[in-house]
Amino acid sequence: GSVFSHLVQAPEDPILGVTVAYNKDPSPIKLNLGVGAYRTEEGKPLVLNVVRKAEQQLINDRTRIKEYLPIVGLVEFNKLSAKLILGADSPAIRENRVSTVECLSGTGSLRVGGEFLAKHYHQKTIYITQPTWGNHPKIFTLAGLSVKTYRYYDPSTRGLNFQGLLEDLGAAPPGSIVLLHACAHNPTGVDPTIQQWEQIRKLMRSKGLMPFFDSAYQGFASGSLDTDAKPIRMFVADGGECLVAQSYAKNMGLYGERVGALSIVCKSADVAGKVESQLKLVIRPMYSSPPIHGASIVAVILRDKNLFHEWTLELKAMADRIISMRKQLFEALRARGTPGDWTHIIKQIGMFTFTGLNPAQVSFMTKEYHIYMTSDGRISMAGLSSKTVPHLADAIHAVVT
Ligand code: PMP
Repeated sequence: GSVFSHLVQAPEDPILGVTVAYNKDPSPIKLNLGVGAYRTEEGKPLVLNVVRKAEQQLINDRTRIKEYLPIVGLVEFNKLSAKLILGADSPAIRENRVSTVECLSGTGSLRVGGEFLAKHYHQKTIYITQPTWGNHPKIFTLAGLSVKTYRYYDPSTRGLNFQGLLEDLGAAPPGSIVLLHACAHNPTGVDPTIQQWEQIRKLMRSKGLMPFFDSAYQGFASGSLDTDAKPIRMFVADGGECLVAQSYAKNMGLYGERVGALSIVCKSADVAGKVESQLKLVIRPMYSSPPIHGASIVAVILRDKNLFHEWTLELKAMADRIISMRKQLFEALRARGTPGDWTHIIKQIGMFTFTGLNPAQVSFMTKEYHIYMTSDGRISMAGLSSKTVPHLADAIHAVVT
């Protein structure tokens, strides 16, 4: 017999497993609202025009080689990524106190940041929102941190539980790490206002809590790269330290290229240098050095004024299509007279709507309507189109009446 015969079959990933089930369904009306990937009105994956152009430039350049990147990745990409998230005029960049490393998309950036903190930071507890993206607790536990939650979402208002959030962060041991979704909170689509961010910042700084921003949707929430980065820039402007994990999966559509960055904003250039030297010790035994292609695409786009501008337009178009799907779904439910308050569909921000549907209702919609989504009732608005909105509205109407 095999030495592995004692293994039990592991369950599918709760998010990626939705696509596995979807793929097995032969129904022509099936609809996948599970995975957070952008789709066009025709329901097709989208490669941005500006990405095609950048790739063409890379292919035409015969001087390009396939040598290993340094452990920290593509240095120009790192500089441009820090500038994109912190702002071109960031004092922290000017003072050389930001250490940035290229990582394997957002997930890899969170994992490297988590391991760095577990090794070198005095507090080993990270607070994550309740609820959060399902991968967060696993990433940080395996990185060596102990994971606790803070209140975030209020099911009764389908909005922010701001009082609960302040109480829980206020009660966290001094120095604790706090994971913050920079914008477009996953799965709830509920973000603090700028005034609330300012209160969170003051509370965290007064208690020495360490901010770790997860920025997986810069530009995807509001359509503006600068607006979506504002909470992070408020924390950097006060001169304090923080970590930022960036992903180019959604905003450049580079999902499978696995390109992202981890930046650690420090108090001085001297500290930032030491931090970078230690980040290299985390990365080298993990995967040695990151891939070259995705980071090269990003660098071509971010360094060129025209391509950058073109990118912002394509990004805005994706964000606008998602916002328009919110309006269409809301209107379709209103037209059907579906009972309940559905205004959260148009109030929530980013890729997802947290519908408030329970696991039994989700399972009914999958069985009877071939609509696939995570069991917490989260739907990806990016997977909808004008053609499929009526089908989803019919299913929601049927399940709540
Ligand atoms: N954080 C959050 C909140 C996310 O939703 C995602 C993507 N689903 C990620 C991080 C990381 O994704 P990736 O590794 O594909 O960049």
